[in-house]
Amino acid sequence: MKKDEAITHGSIKNYNRKKILNLLMAKRELTKQEIAIKTNISIPTVTTNINELMKEGIIEEAGVADSRGGRKPVIVRFVPDSKFSFGVDINVERAKIALVNLDCKIIEDVEFSIVSIGRIEEIVQKIVKEIELLISKHSIEESKILGIGFSLPGTVNEKKMILELAPNLKMKNINFKQFSNFIKLPFYIENEANAGAIAEYYLSGKKLSNFVFVSITQGVGTGVIINGHLYKGKNQRAGEFGHMVIVPDGKQCNCGRKGCWELYASERALLESYFERTGKVLTIDDFMKLVTEKDTVAIDIWEDYLNYLSIGIENLILGLDPMAVIIGGNIAKWEELIVDSVKQKIFSKESFEGVDDVKILCSKMGEDASLLGAALIPIHKVFG
Ligand SMILES: [Zn+2]
Repeated sequence: MKKDEAITHGSIKNYNRKKILNLLMAKRELTKQEIAIKTNISIPTVTTNINELMKEGIIEEAGVADSRGGRKPVIVRFVPDSKFSFGVDINVERAKIALVNLDCKIIEDVEFSIVSIGRIEEIVQKIVKEIELLISKHSIEESKILGIGFSLPGTVNEKKMILELAPNLKMKNINFKQFSNFIKLPFYIENEANAGAIAEYYLSGKKLSNFVFVSITQGVGTGVIINGHLYKGKNQRAGEFGHMVIVPDGKQCNCGRKGCWELYASERALLESYFERTGKVLTIDDFMKLVTEKDTVAIDIWEDYLNYLSIGIENLILGLDPMAVIIGGNIAKWEELIVDSVKQKIFSKESFEGVDDVKILCSKMGEDASLLGAALIPIHKVFG
């Protein structure tokens, strides 16, 4: 994402490099002449950058292009497997780790349950072990690994490296700097919904510059993208819409308040409602199967759930007027059961918005959006 920076020789050099690299990442193969035209950077500067990138192995020669006379221009090609990054997504139940290449394509992922571990130090130590195993399994040189991005379910101050409050993990004020004695790679932290929003922005191809990503997991988090920037707020806590009160004096939340949106719109809330009615513990897949089979109780609970989901989404739309609201998390798989109903509930009554004013979409990345967004952070620190 764009940052304001003083224009210095160093920053121009960096800017040119990123511009060339981003173009090559998108187009894959180009000649120096094509790069110069498309980036508006002079041929000598393009050549210097290309030589540097080639030395680093990030691009390689890929033959010659046709020419109308004279020397045939050399084609250079982007090499996605020249560098790697790790994304780690920690939620209430498990930690998931993905090794990705520069295209953020997952090479391998692993996960383990954290339910019986509890202490964050032990969780992070186990993550580091899994990362070391992946590195040796894929025989990757350490110099090719850009770093590790952690996606965490709570308010995160990524500048101070502090997980400030994660009510559902029952953790607060965890300083991730303390882990630098056993994490040898550069590492970064981000809120899980923000990480999901980053993944949607860069990887989904939706080309939306203003949207809200609603991450539905055991809780509800939102990541807000405004004009291509992740909106963080003064204290890095923006987007905690999961804790806006939608039922005064409602259910007790882990955050200490009552009636928060996530108590009615999270995956956990949905399955708990079913348990309260039937005494049966179901997985989300089992529950949604009942909905598709038109089971009366399941349909009833699903309708209630969609009402609460829609109330929150409508509030987001009223407050932010985004181009789109993108629903993420496991539940996004059932797009055909969500989108039309939510639209109907939001737009059919007397409303400020018409159905064409804002898109309601489901993420195609499912539960991996936050994981991929986390993996993108080290890549962007170097290339973004
Ligand atoms: Zn709350």
